Amino acid sequence: MQNKLSTIALEFMKAGLTGDIVSIPEAYKEYVEVFDVPEKPDNWEFMYRNRQEEIIVPVSGGLDSTICYYIAKMSGKSVRAFYVDMGQEYAWKEKDALVNLGIDFSVLADVRSDRTGWNERFSKAWKHILPARNFYILSLLAEQAEGPATLYFGVLDGEIKERLGGDKSKEFLRMLTHDLARMHPFPVTLELPIQYLTKASEIEYFLGLAEVHKLEEFGINNKQEAIDLLTKTVTCFDGTAKQCGRCQACLRRYLAFEYNGIKLDDFDVPVMENTKEFQMKYLDAMTLALRDNDFSQYSKIRCEQDLHVLKNNPCK
Ligand SMILES: [Zn+2]
Repeated sequence: MQNKLSTIALEFMKAGLTGDIVSIPEAYKEYVEVFDVPEKPDNWEFMYRNRQEEIIVPVSGGLDSTICYYIAKMSGKSVRAFYVDMGQEYAWKEKDALVNLGIDFSVLADVRSDRTGWNERFSKAWKHILPARNFYILSLLAEQAEGPATLYFGVLDGEIKERLGGDKSKEFLRMLTHDLARMHPFPVTLELPIQYLTKASEIEYFLGLAEVHKLEEFGINNKQEAIDLLTKTVTCFDGTAKQCGRCQACLRRYLAFEYNGIKLDDFDVPVMENTKEFQMKYLDAMTLALRDNDFSQYSKIRCEQDLHVLKNNPCK
């Protein structure tokens, strides 16, 4: 079912044709009077359903969306997770990771099927940066709402740009919040559950939850089991290797775990030896950011955390 006013209209129409009981969301009660006409079938009745509020979570098998998924689960509300396959060449390993993580998810919308040449352009021109990717995923997921819903968007501390930041900018979030709230029949609320966390902080947060037994109902009984789960997450832009050990995503993942004292060894090649270009970039930019108090690119906490690890693991 899609989150559109026509869904409600169709329910009236179908029930009118078959003479069934019409079950509509409570919020649309007023429409009942409109159809209380002499021609209506004798047994045409109305029921009102008050659907449980649900949380919709986009998942990718990566660290951020996995943490979001568990935050949603802890709310006790009904949670549905979706993976959007846009034909990206690393989609296979993200879906593999979701299965390994035990996340119950549905796959949506493979856009390759209706856009000729999309996949070639996608893999050659855009790599991992696809314009309007978040816009597409979030609006598509909002349309899956089966009742009043909250939609999670896993942006981290420092990732929301003041301006000119595409679909992670404040301006974009303002417009999206406005449009989702006007959706029919179910308004959708946008939430950013990890916006005050960095990658390193979200690992720390999750391990802390495990230590105080907040994750037991999901089968995670202690800190080690939480570590075992999080190390199953995958984030890498390489189309062939699971974790290539050469890309920026691999470095970020390594730094975040290392900050928490967890040594990852699931990279194809040693990550610190093969990402020196990115390490130099971080060292320079983050040192400058701290010196100039300019956190428009990286948040202050991220600078401190990443520099802490980089300085203890100097590039040779
Ligand atoms: Zn990689």
